[in-house]
Amino acid sequence: MLSDIEIAQAATLAPIAAVAGKLGLSADDLHAHGHYMAKLTQATVNRLHAQPARAKLILVTAINPTPAGEGKTTTTIGLTDALNQAGYAALACLREPSLGPVFGMKGGATGGGYAQVVPMENINLHFTGDFHAITAANNLLAALIDNHIYHGNALAFDQVSWRRCMDMNDRALRRLTLENHTHTGFDITVASEVMAIFCLATDLADLTRRLGRIQIAVSTHGQPIYASDLQAEGAMTALLKEAFQPNLVQTLGGSPALLHGGPFANIAHGCNSLVATQTAMRLADYVVTEAGFGADLGAEKFLDIKCRQSGLRPDVAVIVATVRALKYHGGVEVADLNAENLSALASGVANLEKHITNLQSHFGLPVVVALNHFTADTAAEVALVQAAVEALGVRLHVCRHWAEGGAGALALAHTVAMQAQQAAAVKLLYADDLPLVDKLTTIAQAMYGASQVTLSALAQTQLSQMGEASRGLAVCVAKTQYSLSCDAKLRNVPKQHVLHVRELRLSRGAGFVVAICGDIMTMPGLPKQPASARIGVDADGRITGLS
Ligand code: ADP
Ligand code: MG
Repeated sequence: MLSDIEIAQAATLAPIAAVAGKLGLSADDLHAHGHYMAKLTQATVNRLHAQPARAKLILVTAINPTPAGEGKTTTTIGLTDALNQAGYAALACLREPSLGPVFGMKGGATGGGYAQVVPMENINLHFTGDFHAITAANNLLAALIDNHIYHGNALAFDQVSWRRCMDMNDRALRRLTLENHTHTGFDITVASEVMAIFCLATDLADLTRRLGRIQIAVSTHGQPIYASDLQAEGAMTALLKEAFQPNLVQTLGGSPALLHGGPFANIAHGCNSLVATQTAMRLADYVVTEAGFGADLGAEKFLDIKCRQSGLRPDVAVIVATVRALKYHGGVEVADLNAENLSALASGVANLEKHITNLQSHFGLPVVVALNHFTADTAAEVALVQAAVEALGVRLHVCRHWAEGGAGALALAHTVAMQAQQAAAVKLLYADDLPLVDKLTTIAQAMYGASQVTLSALAQTQLSQMGEASRGLAVCVAKTQYSLSCDAKLRNVPKQHVLHVRELRLSRGAGFVVAICGDIMTMPGLPKQPASARIGVDADGRITGLS
């Protein structure tokens, strides 16, 4: 069995202009980064956005993942290839990988097996430089704040809330004291407000407006101070303008894919840029997009943040599940996941059932289940999951795109395309004008099955300091992806758990308040054995060991 990188490196890629041609675009619409990656020019994006959207929108989400990740990106790519093979013009919209997981535990984010986007090494490492631009824009604002204080502090900065960022898992940077005695820290770039703004802005003007709106501090007079008070938004936009153009690449099956932006779904809102999705809606008949981690995090925020702000509505959701992950939820440890275990599976399937009913009842979203097949899955295990899902009146397809490419997901493609043609009355979970704590309680009780929400003393103080500023904003819950609760150890469908909010952060430019729950960190750390130890470069300049 070849590794992901070996499969990717053995592929013959089409020139990127040929990939663009499948979307009706020409070389003039591209700003090429080498032979196989390109940005769509701003003029092309603007021209397309003036046209009406024509595509059906397919949201790929999942059960609560196990520590390995269970194949949403792989399925998004496999489904896109399958749709194109079946004659439905499809385009994938994915996030760009972050270096944190690439060198940490999870590895790259370009799919796996015969369902990958390529060139996988370039995409996983630097790509077209977007995350570096976002990091620079974020840190320019930090430098401007400290510079203003240094030169006399005319705005009377007191409590500075703006933090620096870096696209790396570096836990030593979580808490810092600066030379001017200000307390601050770093977040990973994918958790930064600039990343969220980048992914939610409708166009360059909106990007600038949102950057200006960022609240960076409170003055000694108790007044909010904004990025616009330092006239930072123009220069930040200047750093971001190239990055803001969506990136075009191809899948191993030859499908086009737009990869743009990359907020994590556990500590941020978890979906690719709105600009890329809106562009895709005008270039294809079916747009397949992934929201990160389980549907409790990614899908909820896709709907309640991205769709709420943009007016986009998905036509159907694909919930990715694996026999392995469901056994894990049924109590099996990672080392034992390859052995058949029907009783654990019968218990763990409840996690899938909860995500199905959540999307159906709280969002009115039609659901199809993709059972991502692993070689160790037995026929009896597959039949058990199939029966449980069909008992809910939901279609399940066993998918083999990881092993077979698009041909392994054709049945899923037909069902999803048929379902997307039906009218769906998609609704959002909470009303805009609900008080913040009530929004949190609604999410916690409806999506997570929590009994209640508690706020730390710090979170309570932050809530009262925010006052009117939080009115009308959405909530972006930051919590562990491994559990429906905020405790990573509580698998399956935990009962009587409490969502404990440690900290609240106002992301005024993004249009939400981040509620940091349990022990989740906005700057992750590396594991004891980081993936970086296996990565190298051979004499021909080829990357090895990336997974
Ligand atoms: P997610 O997007 O849900 O985090 P990915 O699609 O990135 O998950 O997949 C995580 C890892 O699992 C990748 O390394 C991928 O190669 C592997 N993987 C996915 N599907 C399969 C499968 N059916 N069999 C074996 N490995 C798989
Ligand atoms: Mg993924």
